[in-house]
Amino acid sequence: MSGRLNEARRVVIKIGSSTLVAPEGEPRRVWLNGLAADIAALKAQGADVVVVSSGAIALGRRRLKLASGALKLEEAQAAASVGQIALAEAWTEALAANGLTAAQILLTLDDTEERRRYLNARATIGALLTLNAVPVINENDTVATAEIRFGDNDRLAARVAAMIGADALVLLSDIDGLYTDNPVKNADAKFLPEIAEITPAIEAMAGRPGSDMGSGGMVTKLLAAKIATAAGCHMAIALGQIDRPLKRLAEGGRCTWVLAKSNPAAARKQWILGALKPAGTLTLDAGAETALRSGKSLLPIGVTAVDGRFERGDAVIVRGPSGAEIARGLVAYDSDEARRLVGRRSSEIETVLGYPGRAAMIHRDDLVVV
Ligand code: GLU
Repeated sequence: MSGRLNEARRVVIKIGSSTLVAPEGEPRRVWLNGLAADIAALKAQGADVVVVSSGAIALGRRRLKLASGALKLEEAQAAASVGQIALAEAWTEALAANGLTAAQILLTLDDTEERRRYLNARATIGALLTLNAVPVINENDTVATAEIRFGDNDRLAARVAAMIGADALVLLSDIDGLYTDNPVKNADAKFLPEIAEITPAIEAMAGRPGSDMGSGGMVTKLLAAKIATAAGCHMAIALGQIDRPLKRLAEGGRCTWVLAKSNPAAARKQWILGALKPAGTLTLDAGAETALRSGKSLLPIGVTAVDGRFERGDAVIVRGPSGAEIARGLVAYDSDEARRLVGRRSSEIETVLGYPGRAAMIHRDDLVVV
């Protein structure tokens, strides 16, 4: 089981507030340095690593001298806006001490739900990973209103894992995994090292949050597991507040793995093919069909016709010169722009549209040949 982390090519690590922030409201810097060393070790093995870090509100509330207990939404948002600076600083320092560059990304629910923005966030994270930086993501708490909030970073981390095609998600929190009952209250509670399927019985076992610092209890962890595993990503729940938590996990330390039945590429393929209703059609010339079949992206120059009305990020059907469906994919331009780009070279995109768009009409990662 420990192999799951060692074998993963793209890993999302989520750190809870009570793990990262000490009770007096300061980051646990020595611990964080150890975690950054673990991240450096994973990267040295060739894995892409993305961090989802909570802690902005916990760091900010002490700096603003807010009383303990529940905060009003606007107080939490004010605390987040102060604390996010301290959080970014703590990560920048810890990663730099291990030779790594931190990159801050603040997301809202919309950024992971609406496909147009989803493509942007995905592309930016991809670019950062190519440049060898470590994206450190949090919810954009200061602008997200109650109705549109993730509220908990477990779910945000699962969405991020699905969005970037991660094959492992590790939730580092104040509990070492999932039990059949609350282990603090029931001495007979049994530890579950592996969950192959989230059944109603397992959901019924999930207790309530054990700490007042973060917002993720077992219920939210299982919700996150559903999102991650549906996207082909295995998820681990492990104790964060120990020295070198990822090293421990990789060496077979105690945790619960919730297993995905497929892998990210297959799950994404299924999502593009099955779950999304195509909003339009692109027809290609023979050269583009050949390029597509050999695994290349679809460039505007190979498109001969555009039908239907669609937005950037919508699913479209791709037809060959004979009219037969050859692929489906998420299109990088809306239908008006796509029409203007028919037959054009990628180098002409800026002249045609007035802004430097993406080179591909459909990027190969967003394309499934049928
Ligand atoms: N975004 C919140 C913060 O940084 C954390 C949400 C959570 O606890 O999951 O404080």
